[in-house]
Amino acid sequence: MNSTDRLNLIRSIVPSNVKIVAVSKTKPAAMIEDLYAKSGHRIFGENRVQELEAKHTVLPVDIDWHLIGHLQTNKIRFISSYVGLIQSVDSFRLLHEINKEAIKCKRIIPCLLQFHIAREETKSGFSIEEASRMLDDNLFRELSNIMINGVMGIATYTTDNKQIETEFKTLYKYYNTLKSRYFEQIPGFCEVSMGMTNDYQIALGEGSTIVRIGSGIFGER
Ligand SMILES: *Cc1c(COP(=O)(O)O)cnc(C)c1O
Repeated sequence: MNSTDRLNLIRSIVPSNVKIVAVSKTKPAAMIEDLYAKSGHRIFGENRVQELEAKHTVLPVDIDWHLIGHLQTNKIRFISSYVGLIQSVDSFRLLHEINKEAIKCKRIIPCLLQFHIAREETKSGFSIEEASRMLDDNLFRELSNIMINGVMGIATYTTDNKQIETEFKTLYKYYNTLKSRYFEQIPGFCEVSMGMTNDYQIALGEGSTIVRIGSGIFGER
């Protein structure tokens, strides 16, 4: 099967109200362009700024690029004029810098708050306490040019499906907590980004609204 066939198979499984991000990291621009043309797919995800930059420059302008990997504050300016969604916001400092760059390009940049739900300590993200502290702070309310559209999380890399399910339930619970405490009046806060190639079917069962699928579409990296 090629990328288009694999994506179409995934499309037949994923409900139509759930967004699919085709994670194209490490894959050449030509492969993205081929999928873009043959499938009509428009949402692609990259985890490194430099790679995103290189691909954005040569690929069609109507691609909705999501940044899904750790972002360093000094690199925001390279992507701030076009990035569609920064899924990996893991600190107030980062959000503050994204806001600054967004003001410079007169945009509102949509973001997701990344939560640490996995067992591996190497995976980054807020704890619910850290996120609440940030959202309670007046400094957060001063950020005029960012929009928080929801939450994102990466489950533990394991074959223990019960463990993965528990972690996705936790993320969904965080989403609900934040929605009721801080975003009740904000309809745009509606996204729960969870699920990758190996666990997206579990994530769908737990209320995912965005799945991020790489190898399941483009093949092994
Ligand atoms: C690489 C990556 C994915 C996609 O992983 P696959 O297992 O290839 O589907 C999803 N989310 C994040 C944050 C990633 O870095």
